[in-house]
Amino acid sequence: MIFRVPEYYSEFRCIADRCRDSCCIGWEIEIDPETARLYAQTGGELGSRFRDSIRDNCFVLTPYERCPFLNKQGLCDIYRELGEESLCQICSDHPRYFEWFGSVKEGGIGLCCEEAARVILSGGLGFTETEVPEEECQEYDHELFGYLVLAREVIISHLVRGDLFSEIRSMVDFADELQETIDKGEYMLPEWHESHSGSHADVSDVMGIFTELEPIDEEWIPYINKCLSDIGGYHGLRREHADMLRRITVYFIYRYFLKGTFDGEVVSRVRLAALSAWTVGYLWDCGMRKNQSFGFEECAETAKNYSKEVEYSEDNLELLCDAFYERKCLSADGIKALFGEIS
Ligand code: SF4
Repeated sequence: MIFRVPEYYSEFRCIADRCRDSCCIGWEIEIDPETARLYAQTGGELGSRFRDSIRDNCFVLTPYERCPFLNKQGLCDIYRELGEESLCQICSDHPRYFEWFGSVKEGGIGLCCEEAARVILSGGLGFTETEVPEEECQEYDHELFGYLVLAREVIISHLVRGDLFSEIRSMVDFADELQETIDKGEYMLPEWHESHSGSHADVSDVMGIFTELEPIDEEWIPYINKCLSDIGGYHGLRREHADMLRRITVYFIYRYFLKGTFDGEVVSRVRLAALSAWTVGYLWDCGMRKNQSFGFEECAETAKNYSKEVEYSEDNLELLCDAFYERKCLSADGIKALFGEIS
């Protein structure tokens, strides 16, 4: 089968003890059955630690929410003693993600990891393909998959070469028209056309939605409230951020758009990509107004925090996907208006 990944995929390496927001802290990790058997059969001191620190096939976090195998130096004791191949599936995959469509497997690295965020924000915009052994996948609609692959190529080709903010407005309209063709079962790709933002951007309503999310990190709501209180100083996304925002938009389209193969839904996935690019750009602008030395590192950290909050909570993703249909500020016009004010 074909394995497709963004061209920066192989550049990622976990930075382990140098990581400031380790994925081994704060997350409940479920151990897959094969690895659970291996741990159960392990003898010696590590074997007794496994028996003391695993309940219901999950690592029991310490009172500071650390994985019990994350040592004081910030390194993993399982990795050190048994090697990388003995990590459970989640630990060895993270932050990589995968999706299967018959003879095609797609993968990437998730923006929720600080090192992955650096790689994504500075990496290439192309994709590479290799041959890998066949793997199982769920049933899917082959015709719809082929149609969405073509539609995604159209979207990404415009995002990577055009004026980002106007291409995002066009993308939002393209998705609405594409959805109509899917709903009718008439798979004829719509034209890509220039799109203007007619209405006024409702920045405070849009940012307000982020205070309704379930906070994954306790700092999230106070942080968003702080950025909300400073809304008067916002005069639009900054052109200097366009290249990194382009990478974020392509990341969201690549990662989520083809999931429409399984449910026929594309509008909310495209608006999620547009909203994510705008919100991260807004947070960067806010950061720059407060701190003159706000640079690449801070941009990567902000994007990572956004991703953790939005992408790594099913409830939060669902809330946003519903909001795209229910809130005026996240309608097609509402989102396009966000990309009309550029400073
Ligand atoms: S968040 Fe990323 S860099 Fe940090 S420990 Fe996890 S995989 Fe490594």
